[in-house]
Amino acid sequence: MSFNPLLPELSAQTGFALSPLDRMSEIREDKQILADMSAAAGTRYIVIGRDRPILKRVEGGYDPFFTAAEAATVGRQRETVLLGKGTLGPHADVAFYAIVLDDSAVDIVEVADEGGLIDTRKFVVPGRNDLFVHDLRALATEGTLPVDIIGVLGQAKSIMHWHARHRFCSNCGSSSEMAAAGWRRECRSCKAMHFPRTDPVVIMLAISGDDCLMGRAGRFGKHMYSALAGFLEPGETIEDAVRREIREESSIRIGRVAYLASQPWPFPASLMIGCVAEALNRDIVIDRNELEDCRWFSRRDVQMMLKREHPDGYTAPHPLAIAHHLLRAWSEGRTPSFR
Ligand SMILES: [Zn+2]
Repeated sequence: MSFNPLLPELSAQTGFALSPLDRMSEIREDKQILADMSAAAGTRYIVIGRDRPILKRVEGGYDPFFTAAEAATVGRQRETVLLGKGTLGPHADVAFYAIVLDDSAVDIVEVADEGGLIDTRKFVVPGRNDLFVHDLRALATEGTLPVDIIGVLGQAKSIMHWHARHRFCSNCGSSSEMAAAGWRRECRSCKAMHFPRTDPVVIMLAISGDDCLMGRAGRFGKHMYSALAGFLEPGETIEDAVRREIREESSIRIGRVAYLASQPWPFPASLMIGCVAEALNRDIVIDRNELEDCRWFSRRDVQMMLKREHPDGYTAPHPLAIAHHLLRAWSEGRTPSFR
């Protein structure tokens, strides 16, 4: 169980971090318990089509939870994965599964600019005005659903994305089969077992005195700056990845590194690892392949950017993103100072 609104840890404040589910990993091999759970009338299903959650339109909003009978009407189903059992309030003791539909169940009716942070293509289930197919990032940003439900949708999206792209054994090329209620794939031919992947990404603020380092990628809005970030490489510690990424993108050398928080980021299956880092120099050389700009910002700058009140129009990421929480914690003096 990971949902506890009283937890003081910074990770719990990031988007996609909260979930009211007990993942029940200990029963994933127990066929009898799994059969009983999937047959229970109260069991609910999250339906994913083309990487997007499908929601029921209900009075006053949207409902992401389908009964088995409702889910069966939406489209051809490919895989079903056990997400867990509810632990709180109306979800207590309810088993939740995710279903991924065949791509043919969802149509793309309009393609607009894909350059922004939000996917603006419109997806529909043909002939079903009672259903709403929406980009998960947009759903989370718009506050359409409670934050812990957004976390469950993130879990469903990430695991289903993995199944959709791992249908064949990476060892021998034969088709693989789902096992462990969806948390493993197995190859009948060579007996290899394959497990869902999570891709670690370091995201960090280099700190120099009362300034922090932020960059702006070309895909960002015109005045938006954020923490630098990059994928960890095999054989690398978190600290070394932080030092390497900052050095590559800005030429700033880094001494000490401290972990602050992490965030599951289901686009498609990253774990963002948020750190602060001690800058040893101040002269920036920007890697133009990665960034349009990179510069130092003061605590006062960052406080105004978070409130969207900076006199020069600079802004910082939305509270959905871990970068927002790293910046807030640093600007409020809640991070190691390296002094
Ligand atoms: Zn194989």
